[in-house]
Amino acid sequence: MLQLFIPLGFLGFIYREIREALTNIERLFGLLEAPVKVADAPDAAELQVSGGEVEFDSVSHAYHAERPILQGVSLRVPAGHTLAIVGPSGAGKSTLARLLFRFYDVSEGAIRIDGQDIRHVTQDSLRRAIGVVPQDTVLFNDTIGYNIAYGRPDASPEEIWQALRMAQLEEFVRRLPDGLDTQVGERGLKLSGGEKQRIAIARVLLKDPPILILDEATSSLDTHAERLILDALNLVSRKRTTLAIAHRLSTIVHAERILVLDQGQVVEQGSHAQLLAAQGAYARLWADQQRESVEDDSPTGT
Ligand code: ATP
Repeated sequence: MLQLFIPLGFLGFIYREIREALTNIERLFGLLEAPVKVADAPDAAELQVSGGEVEFDSVSHAYHAERPILQGVSLRVPAGHTLAIVGPSGAGKSTLARLLFRFYDVSEGAIRIDGQDIRHVTQDSLRRAIGVVPQDTVLFNDTIGYNIAYGRPDASPEEIWQALRMAQLEEFVRRLPDGLDTQVGERGLKLSGGEKQRIAIARVLLKDPPILILDEATSSLDTHAERLILDALNLVSRKRTTLAIAHRLSTIVHAERILVLDQGQVVEQGSHAQLLAAQGAYARLWADQQRESVEDDSPTGT
């Protein structure tokens, strides 16, 4: 009897481990809400990044043919610069990020990095060149150290600490009794949304890609947590070509260039001041968000 129980218990253990691993993988892809369904071209070359200029050239995209999502979107982010992308919910902001990462191929037009069409380079070299700080960071059921180094497993503890410092997480991890060896995830320490996002920032710092996609968290963080994240994001996006998807305009007021997307089309571009002066879509979004934040702060919360 005992003999029967041991293998069964062991099988149960294996089953749980496999299920957990699959859940992690599912979540990882769920993160950008897209299955991987593109293939490398037979003659795909390695992406050669010189500066990391990103260009969308008349890009249209439909997940399903009958429902176009992006229509003729053209944008250019010069090497090392930042473009903030704003627009109402469902405008297609995250779709731009998924296309740049090539989770889908564009229906029309082309996306180029330093002049190379991303359909003509290997997915591996493309994804090595791009770091993503997503809205919801997936944590593996492992240690903090593993979770940070997973983009670059050969990183030394010194490099991990340096990334933690820049991501404004050093003090937090130093205070944990097991430090970098602290277990996180479902069976370990639960981290707040802001802490998880800073883990993602530390990951990207270690990976050190020339191009960055920031998908700003929609969940409202307290002012202190938001400050820490903004400081860390400013640092990580310095000198990298950055597409910053912003759901709250307050976080991109100082961006050098803002692109406004509405129903899959670029409707405006400019600085915060220029866009307010234009009194168009951006000014309306800004007025709406100002009103919402005043309402949130009102004593009745209505
Ligand atoms: P939000 O600010 O709410 O995150 P967004 O501007 O990032 O919105 P997207 O996520 O790009 O918007 O979605 C644009 C449209 O595409 C939405 O109508 C959405 O329902 C649709 N969409 C997104 N992902 C898929 C998918 N995998 N399959 C089909 N439709 C999708």
